[in-house]
Amino acid sequence: MPVVLQFPVAPPGPDTPVKRLPRVTPAYTQRLGRLGIATVRDLLLHLPRRYEDTRAVQSLRALQPGSEPQTVQARVQRVSMRRSSRQGTVLVEAVLEDEGAIAGAIWFNQGFLVQRLHEGEELILSGKVRFDRTGRLQFQSPTFEPVRPGEQRHVGRLAPVYPETEGLTSRFLRELIEPLLRVAPELEDPLPPAVALAEGLLPLAEAVRQIHQPDSLDLVESARRRIAFAELFLLQLAAQRARRRRLQGLGAVIPYNHDVARQYAAALPFRLTGDQRQAAHQVLIDLAASGPMNRLLQGDVGSGKTAVAAMAALMTQRAGQQTLVMAPTEILARQHHRTLEELLEPHGVSVRLLVGSTPVRTRREVLAGLSGGMDSLVVGTHALIEDEVQPAALGLVVVDEQHRFGVVQRQRLRRKAERIPNFLAMTATPIPRSLALTLYGDVDLTEIRELPPGRMPTVTQVVHPLDREQAHAFVREQLMQGRQAFVICPLVEESEKLEATSAVEEHARLSADVYPAPWVVELVHGRMPPREKEARMARFVSGEANVLVSTSVVEVGVDVPNATVMLIEDAERFGIAQLHQFRGRVGRGLHPSWCLLFQGSPDAAGRDRLRDVALTSSGFDLAELDLSMRGPGDVVGMRQHGLPEMRAADLLDHALLQRAARAAERWLERDPELDEHAPLSEAMNGYRAVFDLD
Ligand code: ADP
Ligand code: MG
Repeated sequence: MPVVLQFPVAPPGPDTPVKRLPRVTPAYTQRLGRLGIATVRDLLLHLPRRYEDTRAVQSLRALQPGSEPQTVQARVQRVSMRRSSRQGTVLVEAVLEDEGAIAGAIWFNQGFLVQRLHEGEELILSGKVRFDRTGRLQFQSPTFEPVRPGEQRHVGRLAPVYPETEGLTSRFLRELIEPLLRVAPELEDPLPPAVALAEGLLPLAEAVRQIHQPDSLDLVESARRRIAFAELFLLQLAAQRARRRRLQGLGAVIPYNHDVARQYAAALPFRLTGDQRQAAHQVLIDLAASGPMNRLLQGDVGSGKTAVAAMAALMTQRAGQQTLVMAPTEILARQHHRTLEELLEPHGVSVRLLVGSTPVRTRREVLAGLSGGMDSLVVGTHALIEDEVQPAALGLVVVDEQHRFGVVQRQRLRRKAERIPNFLAMTATPIPRSLALTLYGDVDLTEIRELPPGRMPTVTQVVHPLDREQAHAFVREQLMQGRQAFVICPLVEESEKLEATSAVEEHARLSADVYPAPWVVELVHGRMPPREKEARMARFVSGEANVLVSTSVVEVGVDVPNATVMLIEDAERFGIAQLHQFRGRVGRGLHPSWCLLFQGSPDAAGRDRLRDVALTSSGFDLAELDLSMRGPGDVVGMRQHGLPEMRAADLLDHALLQRAARAAERWLERDPELDEHAPLSEAMNGYRAVFDLD
């Protein structure tokens, strides 16, 4: 007889890959992977969406027909299987008995159940009940499980229901997770035990057990809050630590010269709005403080953020220091360059431009001007982060619309100066204040909500599929009057390549049939080399092209005051913030403007969202609306922000957030270097992409 070698199998620990677990086939490994579950730890921290309560077991005699599920304990008397005469559906039927009372149960197209149902076996069953054709009460596809006192997994208990994924049932997950609960005590807990104790929180292992195998809904809630608290605590700790370190750092100090501020305001061709003054004031105070500034300036397109940044740049120049202004694309850099020139040349500040296509000679000049201290303000793209850029006295960095501008880039910039430069980020895609303060706890927030007076509002219209022709005719009329139009192609989430292909087709169709010669229709998409993209875009900016067809990838902040139409195909596929961002591309000149939201299908939910966008012109209000329409959980996609996923925390739960914030503050007093509790300092690594912790 061959000898079968039995290798000792190590018992699972938190790091054991799920594929090592019994029953987890490669197919299951893949499905679990889709939920972000790779290890036993991930499984244990995979939270149910809700619970099914089938604890109230009644006698079969008390059964009533109705739409509320009922649970009974009964013995299987008989099991049979047949094919329904009409559709060939496989029917499995059972006769149930309990203290002389009889009822039936039926399951559809689950032939395998015949093997699971044994005559004479005691079951707990739960499901909806109605009369069958013979007038007997019958369970409709009930869930069931053999009676195992104290060990019910699925029925006769509070059973966790996990978020659904194709081919991964809650039943499977319960059976997979429950035996692993004994690993829970080995889970490292980033929350210091002292904090858990002071806050009266369950130990992590107990919380994990209650989550998957609850004793009561109250305990489930305590467990969820315990995990949520830890998540918020970590987020707050990272933010507060980053803030402390920053404020302790030696920042570039730019004295607040009130005369300079007054001169600047007086020389403007317009009056600053109240919000602009307020914003400028906050920025200037920060610049003068010893800790470096880290401020986010939020304001809709055209709210006048650049005018505020310009004042800060002027103050910096007057203090003998330098400013770098960074934009995401070359076109935008050129635009900022022009605007800043207009605003600052009257004050004797020359503004330089440094982008990829800057000729070598000019480039050398600018670099020399920076390192020699002759130039005080340079506008550019990411080229400004490169090592050759060595300003003599960098005092301020302004970053426009670069959501992915992270810690690494900031650290690179910081290395360019002896003192830490002040940092001002600007965005026209505001996120709600509550969320901004939570997500970017180390960032100070300034909002410009007030628009300069006399702006022509952009009229937004939802266009029904049947009205497309009419809408295009309207756009042609605008072209006839010398105006220009943007056309945004449908979003293709899965693939930039497919999106590009569809944009090419759309461009061909529009230029052949809808906007034929003499109109010139230009095309840009994300698969084009940057040079080509910029060149094509430039043809639109200069007016050579009348229509610009673009994919969403090219979410351009380009300023074309002559463009009066923003037409968005399949608009309901885009997020609210993105639609608003697109809309901000028009309404920048003297002419009235339109944003046409083409509905892809007459689907009602999508239409309502579009209607909201049409009725709301403030980006702040839209951001709030967007937030209120999403459930907690998918609130912002923490991953998108480079942060660890929140499993339990609701970022809008202010009470818990504040509790966590206070606990984090106290902890930092006690353990400022975070070396008291190793799992805590380790957990901080997950926050490094967003918070500057070193
Ligand atoms: P943002 O950067 O917020 O999109 P800008 O600073 O580029 O806005 O300003 C948009 C336009 O509005 C520019 O032409 C600017 O000159 C003008 N502007 C800025 N502030 C005011 C104001 N207070 N009153 C009138 N026009 C203004
Ligand atoms: Mg701007």
